[in-house]
Amino acid sequence: MLLSIARAFFSIFSELDILPSNMNYYILIISIGISLLACQAAVDNGEASNEQIVQDTKDTIAKDTIKPQQKDTLPKGIQQLLKAYPQQLKKATPNSIIWADGTEMFYDDRIKNKSFRQLLDEPDLQDQLENMPYNRGKMPQSPARNDDPGRIRYEPFFLKMYGESKDAVRKNLVEVDWLPQSIGQKLLVTTINEVDKKVIALSAELEKHPELHKYLTKPGGTFNWRKIAGTDRMSMHSFGMTIDVNVGYSDYWRWHIKDGDTEGTKVIEYRNRIPIELVEIFEKYGFIWGGKWYHYDSMHFEYRPELFQ
Ligand SMILES: [Zn+2]
Repeated sequence: MLLSIARAFFSIFSELDILPSNMNYYILIISIGISLLACQAAVDNGEASNEQIVQDTKDTIAKDTIKPQQKDTLPKGIQQLLKAYPQQLKKATPNSIIWADGTEMFYDDRIKNKSFRQLLDEPDLQDQLENMPYNRGKMPQSPARNDDPGRIRYEPFFLKMYGESKDAVRKNLVEVDWLPQSIGQKLLVTTINEVDKKVIALSAELEKHPELHKYLTKPGGTFNWRKIAGTDRMSMHSFGMTIDVNVGYSDYWRWHIKDGDTEGTKVIEYRNRIPIELVEIFEKYGFIWGGKWYHYDSMHFEYRPELFQ
């Protein structure tokens, strides 16, 4: 554009065969200035209309291929996800959730009768939400064989939510004071889903329960980008929304394996020293407890608000 306008001016001046005088220089400079401004305006308009087109295209795709359903006709698990993560999940179809950036993630992979191992290793969102319901508050007894509510996790969901790499997750982490009046430690947690604010509120409530403080000193850790021991699955500690309380009062099924049963397929004897009062306070803020699992991990609390509805 700039070149063609400059060329046009140049040809006008050369055709008129005007010898460059001072006046002609001024006219030339002013003309070039005007053409530059015109070019810039044209470029700006072009960008604006391109953005508009991209947006219109997205809207059209959304209208044509993603028909947001009335919430009450969606599967219950999808409704739970939309309610639990309103900043991240904006829409849904009967078999998918739509993230705020337009990414569509399928809910049901239509594979039926998965084994316990398949549920752990190859779940879909539906397995995560519907397979093993998590019950708030007291447990009637020790967990039933392989009942691990919350331990079935569709990994792409958490990578998308909290970050696809150690650095991506780390960008969203902040240091929070953990029971500043009585314990005074720092925990590194994510700001995604306002987990940091929830941990601050949780900490303030726990502060009022001195009888529980011995379980909360020397917390076992929050952020640690790693796989779950003995598996190929990401630990929820990778995402900065998980807290291990005092390891000294905790029990983990892998510490009590019999006959080299690292897969946990044989009978596991349940153990726990964490009081339910502590668990109930964590649950109020959207954290599930690993002590409710057959494959128990009684120090472990993870932010999973979708499981509380
Ligand atoms: Zn843990």
